[in-house]
Amino acid sequence: MQKAHMAEGLSHWIGRRRDARLRPVAGEQEIGVAALSQPSPERPGESAPRQQSRHPRIDAHCHIVIPEVLEMTRAVKLRGSGPGKRDWIPEESRRAHREQADQTEEKLLHPEARLPDMDAMGIDIQVVSMNLPTPAYWAAAAVGQRIARACNEGVAAFVRRRPDRFLGIGVVPLQDVRLALRELDHIAGLDLRGVQIPSNVRNREVGEAAFRPFWARAAELGLPVIIHPRGFTHDDRLHKFFLWNTIGQPLEEALAMASLIHEGVLDAYPDLRVVMSHGGGYLPYYSGRGDRAFHSRPEPKRNIAKPPSAYFPRFYYDSVVFDPDMMPRLIRQAGADRIVMGTDYPRGEVEEDPVGFIGGLAGVSAADKLRMMSTNAQALFGLPAQAGGPGGLPDQER
Ligand SMILES: [Zn+2]
Repeated sequence: MQKAHMAEGLSHWIGRRRDARLRPVAGEQEIGVAALSQPSPERPGESAPRQQSRHPRIDAHCHIVIPEVLEMTRAVKLRGSGPGKRDWIPEESRRAHREQADQTEEKLLHPEARLPDMDAMGIDIQVVSMNLPTPAYWAAAAVGQRIARACNEGVAAFVRRRPDRFLGIGVVPLQDVRLALRELDHIAGLDLRGVQIPSNVRNREVGEAAFRPFWARAAELGLPVIIHPRGFTHDDRLHKFFLWNTIGQPLEEALAMASLIHEGVLDAYPDLRVVMSHGGGYLPYYSGRGDRAFHSRPEPKRNIAKPPSAYFPRFYYDSVVFDPDMMPRLIRQAGADRIVMGTDYPRGEVEEDPVGFIGGLAGVSAADKLRMMSTNAQALFGLPAQAGGPGGLPDQER
């Protein structure tokens, strides 16, 4: 009863936003915006997925919960500061977390409970990962390996229940690179379509030399690596007002990108595909200072021959930024072929109308909107190529 009520509420909300945002634009029909009205209100969740269409709409950033993994994580003794420390999330945030958890529990646990919302949002396929992008990185390596394995098996089992609507993303115990490599191979065998890592590993930057074997193996396997922050390491100044999330997480993302750029990881592995959560945090929108310093000082160019912003097209980015004015900048910096639609569904800061968000972007072509809603993620996560013209674009846009 409550589930039905929640889906109804979400659909109503989306309807209002759709009216406000989705003015007709050239090519709207081709990107399928009009198909938002497909789901039957009488039988939510039972409409056929649109993936039979040439261009399934893909939400590349969603989360689920594997209860067994949560229990294993809670059992680990916590030490140090930052994520993992028992009080790293302030009480005021924990209270709000609990309320959101109560509201979204069914959707985090059960594929079927998500379908009415997916249909209402116009999403054919969700790419799902565990809601803890860093399951117990503070744990001993062997414990971390067991938790990562349970997480990967859990995500794979979730996807198997509705493989027509979900793709899964795995995790690795990156506190021990040797074990992480073993788990990467296991992920590929489970048909998970990528691996999610945090923006730092026990306060170490992801571009550091110790992690090179991980990046090499991910590139070799063709597995996209999704970087998703969890709070901020030095959160003592960000405790209040949810700033550990709103300021800390985009800062974590900027630091992870800067580390991969400046350490030369992207130059070392040209085939590596890295997906930045939340539009990449601050870096793509504040690149002038880094480029200026690259030209004027020796430190930034110790390992790289191009200014930092020249590496922005080497990353992929999801569209979970909530402000449409940020998107033209991201498209200019990285290219529309590098952006995938996302929501962070179902809990926390969720983009409830992802199709409307991208469909309503002013000055962006229908072909680029199609790329962001569908074909970029199709290629990134290895969905079978759909029938259609070269590049999967509608005939008119070739
Ligand atoms: Zn997320």
